[in-house]
Amino acid sequence: WQFTTVRRQLRRAEADRARYQQTLHFVTHEMKTPLTAIQGSSELMTRFKLSEDKRKEIALMINAESKRLARMVETFLNVERLSAGQMELRREPFEAGELVAACLRRAQPLAERKNIRLVPGDIAGITLEGDRELMEYAVYNLLNNAVKYSPAETEVSVQGVLDGGFFRLSVKDQGIGMDQYEMRNLFRKFYRTRRAVESGISGTGIGLAIVQQIVAHHGGRIEVASAPGQGSCFTIVLPARATAQASAGE
Ligand code: ADP
Repeated sequence: WQFTTVRRQLRRAEADRARYQQTLHFVTHEMKTPLTAIQGSSELMTRFKLSEDKRKEIALMINAESKRLARMVETFLNVERLSAGQMELRREPFEAGELVAACLRRAQPLAERKNIRLVPGDIAGITLEGDRELMEYAVYNLLNNAVKYSPAETEVSVQGVLDGGFFRLSVKDQGIGMDQYEMRNLFRKFYRTRRAVESGISGTGIGLAIVQQIVAHHGGRIEVASAPGQGSCFTIVLPARATAQASAGE
C-alpha cells in the first residue's frame, strides 16, 4: 500500500515537473520574437544618428512590442491560474461584433503581407459575458492560425450567428488543413501537425490548448472541420444573448 502511494506521489511530481518544463519552454520561445525586436531597435537608436521621425517610429514599435509581451505574460498566467482554480473568471458583458472587429484589425497586417483577404461576416447585437481580454486572445489566435497556415492569395472568412442561446463564431480558411487523427490531437499542449512542421511555419503548439481552456472556462466548446489540403473551419460555441435594445420611439 505504501509502495503504491509513494509511486503515485512520484508520478504526480514527475507530471508537475514536465508541465513546468513545458511552460518554461513556451514562455521563453514565445517571448523571443518581441524581445529580439525590442533589442534590435533599441540598439539602432543608440548606435546610429537617426532622424526625429525615424526615432519616433522605432520608439512606438518598442512600446507596442513591450505591451505585446506584457499582454502575453498576463494571458498565460491568467489561464494557468484559472486552470489551477486560483482565479475567478472575470464576468463582464461585451459585444461580440466589437471583439471580432478588434481581432480582425490585429490580423490585418499579417494577412496583407500574404495577400490574404479577410472577409468579415455581419456580427451585430450579440452580447457575450466573461473576460474580454482572454476571449480576444482566443479569437485572435484562431484568425492568426488561419492566416498562418494558408497560402498567399486565399481567403479567410469569419461568420458569427446567435443560435438558441449560443453564439457560433467560425473562422474558415483555404489552407493546409489536417486529417482526422490530427484533429483529435490538436488541442493537446505542444502538438503540431506534420503538415505544419514540414511547411516550415514556426509555432509552439500551445495556442490552441490555451484557446480551448479559455473557451471551456466560459462555458463553451470548440469544434473543427477540416481535411488535408482542403482548408479548416474552427468554430467557437459560447453562451450568449441578444443585446438589449433601447426601445424605439420612446
Ligand atoms: P502553433 O500554431 O504555434 O503551432 P497552435 O496551438 O495554435 O500552435 O496550433 C497547433 C497546431 O494545429 C499547429 O501547429 C498546426 O499544426 C495546427 N493548426 C492550427 N490551426 C490551423 C489551421 N487553421 N490550419 C491548419 N492547421 C492548423
